[in-house]
Amino acid sequence: MNKNITIAIDGPAGAGKSTVAKKIAEILSFEYIDTGAMYRALTFKVLNLGLDPKSVDDVIDTMKSTSIDFRNNHIYLDNVQIDREIRENIINQNVSYVAKIKEVREGMVKIQRELAKTKSVVMDGRDIATVVFPNADFKFFITASVEERANRRYKELIEKGEKDISYENIKKEIESRDKIDSTREIAPLVESKDAYRLDTTDKTIDECVEEIISIVSSGR
Ligand code: C5P
Repeated sequence: MNKNITIAIDGPAGAGKSTVAKKIAEILSFEYIDTGAMYRALTFKVLNLGLDPKSVDDVIDTMKSTSIDFRNNHIYLDNVQIDREIRENIINQNVSYVAKIKEVREGMVKIQRELAKTKSVVMDGRDIATVVFPNADFKFFITASVEERANRRYKELIEKGEKDISYENIKKEIESRDKIDSTREIAPLVESKDAYRLDTTDKTIDECVEEIISIVSSGR
């Protein structure tokens, strides 16, 4: 392959997108870009400043003086690496409010397009195949039942030692995030008509990775 290739992966929270995307990027030696991490980074900053993520003006103001960057698979907020901090449950609960703001999306999409200009990338998110790269070389929509997604998120948070969480609450949070993400006015989460749909409910990560790699390798 001698031109830069773009692989777009969209899907709802907890479907396994980032795990699969990371492995694919590794196998193909492409750069992995986790766009959710960018929205999470801004949410982290807003919360850290004691601001309300639902306050559109405050979020836009914060964004104006914020730098968000990816280097060697790590996310940097104002030049500080914050991979771990952005995975906390408080971020899950607030990120969709920040991500629905038009100006925030415009800024992030600009950075995302810039990142893919000079290299082959696997980019995952909610609007990659529909808005960021409507002409992506390959498009995938990765999903799973809400119960399975809640179950995965619950296990992940327990393993990280988060306390005061319950499966029921996690499921409610995922449903709420799905709703905000898929009904927002700008770039909602929708399945692109030309995307290959992969339901991961009863599949292992390796099975999903194999399926995607075989599609990409055969150039379908
Ligand atoms: O993928 P992840 O769960 O880390 O994404 C966190 C949140 O960021 C999503 O729930 C969504 O609100 C937002 N997001 C988005 N567009 C993207 C990626 C993420 O709106 N391309």
